[in-house]
Amino acid sequence: MTAAHSAVLRLLFDCLDHQTDVVIRRGVAAPNELGDIEFGTNTITVDRTCDFPQFVHTLAHELVHFERGPGDIGDERAEEQRVTEETARLLVPDEVLPSILEAAKPDRLAAELQVDEATVRLAITLTRQEREAAARAEPTTDEGTA
Ligand SMILES: [Zn+2]
Repeated sequence: MTAAHSAVLRLLFDCLDHQTDVVIRRGVAAPNELGDIEFGTNTITVDRTCDFPQFVHTLAHELVHFERGPGDIGDERAEEQRVTEETARLLVPDEVLPSILEAAKPDRLAAELQVDEATVRLAITLTRQEREAAARAEPTTDEGTA
């Protein structure tokens, strides 16, 4: 069990906490997709061709969709991007990343967490942006703390 797996289990727990009926099935997902979700019936399909790491990633992605609810019509691409980013941050939590992000080894992290390297790279990029934004938001010393 990796940190990524724990995060997916935690998300599943949270989903089931406020919506007790979620159907997760392996089957045939929408064309060119590894997974899909039907909000009307709370049904998540993970494509039967997925190997275990793909299964974990796809399940996480669809659970993030589930938590966020159906996106606005006409905003599907933006919503998909947000879900992709949220999934990357979920699967690659802050605590597995080094404090110096330049020292992160995406291939090694991917193997450790059993997620794909592209997701690790996205998570590193997002984390860098978050840390830079946090650093900018921090008050400078001359603003005082008293
Ligand atoms: Zn999606």
